[in-house]
Amino acid sequence: MTDQSALISSAYSQALSVIESVEPRIAEATRKELADQRSSLKLIASENYASPAVLLTMGTWFSDKYAEGTVGHRFYAGCQNVDTVEALAAEHARELFGAPYAYAQPHSGIDANLTAFWSILAHRVEGPWLEKFGAKNVNELTEADWETLRGELGNQRLLGMSLDAGGHLTHGFRPNISGKMFYQQQYGTDPETQLLDYDLVRAKAREFQPLILIAGYSAYPRRINFAKMREIADEVGATLMVDMAHFAGLVAGKVFTGDEDPVPFAHITTTTTHKSLRGPRGGLILAQEEYASSVDRGCPLVLGGPLSHVMAAKAVALAEARQDSFRTYAQQVADNAKSLADGFLTRGAKLVTGGTDNHIVLLDVTSFGLTGRQAESALLDAGVVTNRNSVPNDPNGAWYTSGVRFGTPALTTRGFGHDEFDKVAELVVDVLKNTRPGSTKAGGASKATYELGDGVADRTHAASAEMLDKHPLYPGLELT
Ligand code: PLP
Repeated sequence: MTDQSALISSAYSQALSVIESVEPRIAEATRKELADQRSSLKLIASENYASPAVLLTMGTWFSDKYAEGTVGHRFYAGCQNVDTVEALAAEHARELFGAPYAYAQPHSGIDANLTAFWSILAHRVEGPWLEKFGAKNVNELTEADWETLRGELGNQRLLGMSLDAGGHLTHGFRPNISGKMFYQQQYGTDPETQLLDYDLVRAKAREFQPLILIAGYSAYPRRINFAKMREIADEVGATLMVDMAHFAGLVAGKVFTGDEDPVPFAHITTTTTHKSLRGPRGGLILAQEEYASSVDRGCPLVLGGPLSHVMAAKAVALAEARQDSFRTYAQQVADNAKSLADGFLTRGAKLVTGGTDNHIVLLDVTSFGLTGRQAESALLDAGVVTNRNSVPNDPNGAWYTSGVRFGTPALTTRGFGHDEFDKVAELVVDVLKNTRPGSTKAGGASKATYELGDGVADRTHAASAEMLDKHPLYPGLELT
């Protein structure tokens, strides 16, 4: 055990004994969560393992501090240390991504997107409207003026990628607030290739004339040309918002450069900090200068008090992402996704878009005679943690689905490489080939129940354990 891992082991062991003295069931669940994460193949594309430094930063007294406002301009006294933290998080983000402006307050990806939407509305709709009527702010408006402005704000258009093509629910999906507060339309992918078709996006944008064009995804296994997306946005006068929540780590690690780096092209870029970026759970916004002052009003526009302990952890994670080792990691994430995809393809499986060039592999499980729900459950029984996902024009809908999404960021953090990911593909295909769809209580075909062949779970667990033991999670961390 190194000196540092001995210290970390001692810190966590002592912290858990303090928690134990108050609520032992939470201490027990925390210990169990570590054991579970250590012993399963975590292939959920939106998850990762943050470093002990990031995790430890979250467990401090910064959690107790209110700090509504912005750096140096707070609505509470005594925020000098929060100012240090927030300024550092923003500085690291600007430097890492080459962005003119960064805002570290959003509590999550959804909060970041909501903040971005309202910042765009403030900049593009409310600002010019107030100017036209000679008002400095909304407090100067009469009730009748305000009623008209409310109508203007509430009648704007948003164009984003559809959920079944890989978009996120905040990109205009009807059950989400983004699909309710905007008139929304969605662009899909080419029915043959399942790839993003920029001509289709352009045609939709010309017809729909959105205020906001969103690019970004949760389940699209390919890169996007953001120069082209900006060209389309400019042609129709839209604000280009890129949600890089999933692939921020690949941007930070310079795997996505040139036209594939969204930051220089988007007016506003949002992200989470906990997926491929490998930080704490949270959100972050990057913006061009012209949007900086609207985004800076995220609180009180949409947000309450920032989570100062999480902003501190964002600063630590962003500092880690600025190290050369993060570039090596990010490249390995992309290389491993290719190894996984090739492993599936050589074993006859069908992939959405036929492969990957990011960190996601989307397996179409219909050729195994299964729904996504059945495949996800059978894989979990065998210790392979994934999530089911729609495929384009999914015949099984968004609940049962026809796909399973795999991601490489977490296991790459553990040190998995080409051979391990090829083995993962072998194990997954073995499980799915040996899973039969079940039937309903009435004897009909079920989209949820399944039967896993004898011995499959055991042999998968054994083969996974061999790889996981070779690449321990938090090596040297031993809880007493
Ligand atoms: N945007 C995208 C593209 C995502 O994939 C996600 C999460 O899955 C989010 C936003 C929302 O992030 P959070 O869960 O932190 O709100």
